[in-house]
Amino acid sequence: MIRGIVSRRAALLGLLPAVFFRRASAAAVTKGKTVKIAEFDSSGKLIKVLEVDRIEKTAAEWQQQLTPLQFQVTRKQGTERAFSGKYATSHDDGLYRCICCATALFDSKTKFESGTGWPSFWQPIAKQNVKEVVDGSLGMQRTEVECARCAAHLGHVFPDGPKPTGLRYCMNSASLDFASRGH
Ligand SMILES: [Zn+2]
Repeated sequence: MIRGIVSRRAALLGLLPAVFFRRASAAAVTKGKTVKIAEFDSSGKLIKVLEVDRIEKTAAEWQQQLTPLQFQVTRKQGTERAFSGKYATSHDDGLYRCICCATALFDSKTKFESGTGWPSFWQPIAKQNVKEVVDGSLGMQRTEVECARCAAHLGHVFPDGPKPTGLRYCMNSASLDFASRGH
């Protein structure tokens, strides 16, 4: 009987720090699971900056949602062939959103003709909506651009763009979903 109580006490004492630890780490994980995203209406007007959950899905879930090319580019850091993408030379007026999670990424007002065969922009619609990551693959030092909410690979950014930023966001059409302004 006494032995039972002692061991239960010991178990409780042993459990307490574990419970606290679990709570603390759960809170930390929750914080890391959200991201601040600027939301835009279909006219390209900023609505507000919202803290939203990051979107994490398994490869199988992404494969179900995306075409094979969209999956290869966004989830496997692929690159579509130059001039093969549907937005490479498009000059339609509107917004480009993430093909995976619909986060607004680029406004056509910042799109320019780079001649590279990939849709090119001189800035994202909001800095916090994209994440820049150093990419050392292919023996080059490049800066990869990802969707901040779902980590979709979008393309790369290079320091040889036009004014006013001097940047060239070289994107894959397969990562983007265009909608005409106001639609
Ligand atoms: Zn996304």
